[in-house]
Amino acid sequence: MRGLRLAVAMLSVGLAGCGPTPQWYKGNLHTHSYWSDGDQFPEVILQWYRDRGYDFVSMSDHNVLATTERWVTVGTIPSGEGSLAAYLALFGEEWVERRQDEGGLLQVRLKRFGEYAGRVAEPGRFLVLQAEEISDRFESRPLHVNATNLVELIPPQGGTSVADVLQRNIDAVLAQRRATGQPMFPHVNHPNFGWAVTAEDLMDLQGERFFEVYNGHPLVHNAGDSLHPSTDRLWDIVLAHRLTGGLDVMYGVATDDAHNYAQMDSTRANPARGWIMVRAEALTPDAIITAMEAGDFYASTGVILTEIAASGERLALRIAEEPGVTYVTEFVGTRRGYDRGIEELPDAAGLPVTHRYSLEIGTVLAEVSGPNPEYAFTGDELYVRARVRSSRRPDNPVHAGEVQMAWVQPVLVR
Ligand SMILES: [Zn+2]
Ligand SMILES: [Zn+2]
Repeated sequence: MRGLRLAVAMLSVGLAGCGPTPQWYKGNLHTHSYWSDGDQFPEVILQWYRDRGYDFVSMSDHNVLATTERWVTVGTIPSGEGSLAAYLALFGEEWVERRQDEGGLLQVRLKRFGEYAGRVAEPGRFLVLQAEEISDRFESRPLHVNATNLVELIPPQGGTSVADVLQRNIDAVLAQRRATGQPMFPHVNHPNFGWAVTAEDLMDLQGERFFEVYNGHPLVHNAGDSLHPSTDRLWDIVLAHRLTGGLDVMYGVATDDAHNYAQMDSTRANPARGWIMVRAEALTPDAIITAMEAGDFYASTGVILTEIAASGERLALRIAEEPGVTYVTEFVGTRRGYDRGIEELPDAAGLPVTHRYSLEIGTVLAEVSGPNPEYAFTGDELYVRARVRSSRRPDNPVHAGEVQMAWVQPVLVR
């Protein structure tokens, strides 16, 4: 996607000044390997992404950084034989370190971050970020927070409620950023996984700028159910509350949460389902994170945008059209003075209490067909964002009826 240079007619979202010409970079922030519960060696995973046009990938295993000596036993790890064969085929006999344990079982050493990143990364062409999926819980609810580009391992911080656990883990990432001076950021993973995180848990978090509006794992309920809002609607509930209350905007990312590389089907957590496109001045951690914190990116499950232009008056997109594919863009927003009525839903046993919010939150303000949709602000919107649906099915969908989409970050209407 490096080839999509922009002819920007209007000032683009969040950009100012005159550095190098920004380019779109494609990346996945949420990836598992044999360092935790993924079923492939890190170098093989990274090469897979690189070969498919990704510009950057974060390796984000659960509660571990690849910094220690670790050997895995081929016969006991998932897809061990096949993954070792792929590893040898790609990287060769000399690179792949093997030994036999005391019982004669074949073991392979997992390369450390510096080793595997050094083998696959290439300056300006492919960036590998160190990350951790801080995997915590409150009671039975799984609470996961990704920390991207961190330096030191962050153990799960615990806490006294769902929101408190999230906040403590977010705070730990931000504290490490201050202490080290290295740009890094937390993002809240898959809120609907285990129905663990509600809009109320997210809406007052301090210092949190990102959450997963799309996660490609089959078990995360992006679409919600009769008792729980979709992650898309949850985003609007959180935005309406935060922007009315003077809190920071929250941006939506799409990620793979990839675990399974040996077999590709709807029941597995496969790569290449959801990603972000970041418009950054360089393919470096600093530039990518700076652009993301300015909202200069979008989330995608297949729809590609060549331009996102926001002025004081309008939000306009250009979609990279594919032959035979049609596009419908919904401009979604919440107007100032929206109905704050909240209905409490019956609490199913063991699940968090959920609320039904007024449909004045996250209204579809306009629906526009075609490759060049735009929306003129009326001036009473708190924010406007855009959701593009194509008529094309994803290559490897999780659910029947899915279509390729893109999510444009909310623009604050002054
Ligand atoms: Zn997770
Ligand atoms: Zn994960």
